[in-house]
Amino acid sequence: MYSRVKYARWRLLTPGYGSLRCYFATQPQKEKHIAILGGGITGLSAATDILARGEPCRITILESQARLGGWITSEFVDVPGGKVLFEKGCRTLRPAGASGLTTLSMIHHLGLEEELLTSSKDSAAARNRYVYYPDRLIRMPSSFAELPKFLLFEPLAKGMIAGVLNDFLKPYRSDIEGNDASVADVISNRLHPALVNLVSAVLHGIYAGNVQTLSFNAIFPQLDYYIKQHGGIARGMLYNMRRAWYDEVVLPLHDVLTMQQIMRDWDARRDRRAQDHCMEERTAALQEAKRSSIYSFKKGIQQLPDRMEELLRRDPRVGIETGCLVSSIHADETQGFGGLLVRMGANGETERHYTHVVSTIPSTRLGEILCSDHFDIDMDEASHEIKTILQLNRTVNVMVVNFWFSELDLLPVKGFGYLIPKETPAGQNPECGLGVIFDSDALQGQDTVQGTKLTVMLGGHYWDNWSEKDLPSTSDGISKARSLLSRHLGITAEPMATCATMRRNCIPQYGTHHLSRMRILRQALQDKYKGRLLLAGSSYDGVGVSDCIRSGVYASHSLDSIPKASTGLGEGFLKSQTDIDDPGAFVSVSQRHLRWNFP
Ligand SMILES: Cc1cc2nc3c(=O)[nH]c(=O)nc-3n(C[C@H](O)[C@H](O)[C@H](O)COP(=O)(O)OP(=O)(O)OC[C@H]3O[C@@H](n4cnc5c(N)ncnc54)[C@H](O)[C@@H]3O)c2cc1C
Repeated sequence: MYSRVKYARWRLLTPGYGSLRCYFATQPQKEKHIAILGGGITGLSAATDILARGEPCRITILESQARLGGWITSEFVDVPGGKVLFEKGCRTLRPAGASGLTTLSMIHHLGLEEELLTSSKDSAAARNRYVYYPDRLIRMPSSFAELPKFLLFEPLAKGMIAGVLNDFLKPYRSDIEGNDASVADVISNRLHPALVNLVSAVLHGIYAGNVQTLSFNAIFPQLDYYIKQHGGIARGMLYNMRRAWYDEVVLPLHDVLTMQQIMRDWDARRDRRAQDHCMEERTAALQEAKRSSIYSFKKGIQQLPDRMEELLRRDPRVGIETGCLVSSIHADETQGFGGLLVRMGANGETERHYTHVVSTIPSTRLGEILCSDHFDIDMDEASHEIKTILQLNRTVNVMVVNFWFSELDLLPVKGFGYLIPKETPAGQNPECGLGVIFDSDALQGQDTVQGTKLTVMLGGHYWDNWSEKDLPSTSDGISKARSLLSRHLGITAEPMATCATMRRNCIPQYGTHHLSRMRILRQALQDKYKGRLLLAGSSYDGVGVSDCIRSGVYASHSLDSIPKASTGLGEGFLKSQTDIDDPGAFVSVSQRHLRWNFP
């Protein structure tokens, strides 16, 4: 592995590394007709990126709902004296990492900089994040200076000091750490069982998922790398800190190539920027977002898909069909070009041929329609394998309950909000709460009237295996959320506006062996569809909006010819087959070489 790190670094710094790609790019190509299944943020990002790169192609976006945007829904509601914004899905974005940079680059491409709203890293919301355990709010340390007090006096920190010692002393366990165990198994074995509770709160916040079943390897790839490469998390971190003295960082190869691509795009737009009179302000807004803790837009996250839709609708190469349910897809050998036949409508009333399909719909749904028995299509072994893997990606239901109270200062503390870990006693959380966001503190500038705005998230993995009739109705959800707010925060005031929305099957759960399954899936897709079917979206490699934007961009780039048939899973900006076969590789790279100068 060590030599691989060195080898990869050598290649990254070698001139002419892109020559193979150039060779394929210069081969004459037929115009592609690409169907993008799903008009959520992933599908819209893929379409936007394909057009931005000037591919000679036609694109058709097929979306089953009447609107585009998928889970992203921002809605203004009337309240006495003005309007407030309720986010019914994603509410804020983070600028960190390669995915964060991809989103900022997309925002620049869309010209949305002036719509950005940011919350700085020293704001109360950034510094004050809480966990509710066992019956009170505990503030998480936001700096090293706050760590000793937290470690010594908080019950939630139990096991942390012992955990660091264990991490140094315990040998590598190939049966657990080498075998993609759950997050809970790796944390209890390597660090300390008591720490599983704290990590469960983090996973409630991102995946609404269960620490006992989510895959450590898929959720924390960098920590997994530290354990495998250096024999422990702390050892890996120390090694990285030492390398930083020599101006080097160890990062996933994917991230490095993504950042390099973003720099190239930024440089390529230099002339266009020079002619833009507002460019200084736009660049300053992007820089502020890059430095921020979180950010959104003046009219909510939905401004992002809305702007993409607006630009796509203006382009004559793009067709957008809403209310269009895709009901089956299969390889089409009849046309001689080996494209795909897509059927639409509940009974497959309409059918069309496409040279390529980019699927951004949930993998379970794709599994159903790829090999639809309904239309009497023969299923070979590869199809069975693909279907089984796609359908193993479970999802969870989440109820989002938004409140607005006219009273100011209803909250006992200021901050971003709090998460509820799994060991918070059942009597303190009978509602199956995952966390509460203090929206009015987290980000200002979206509402036209002041008040206290909160969002309560309920359900997630707690509702696994609940039948449809057992799930709460929206009015039950509101009562549950209000009783939770009353018990945890002492808020008994009457809200002036309330909205509860059940999000069914909204967040994919990457269970143990997720990454190995993705490797098998990639191979099966290559063999069966030979680069005609590409997968992207939250089902595969990250559930955050920025991860989805990045996967849409990857799918767009994977449409280019590369050595072997691409699938959207793992190719990204990787150039050689060796890299593609091992997409989780890490590389050591000079920070200077990365030129962290975007924007
Ligand atoms: C409650 C909640 C809160 C969240 N909060 C955050 C947050 O704060 N920050 C963050 O970064 N992320 C957050 N996320 C995650 C993020 O919003 C999603 O992962 C992301 O929006 C998924 O985008 P997507 O395009 O991959 O999928 P989707 O949004 O699911 O889009 C897929 C589209 O495909 C369509 N479709 C499905 N089947 C078919 C078919 N057969 N034919 C045609 N069309 C079909 C669907 O209608 C949908 O529009 C949150 C998610 C939820 C649910």
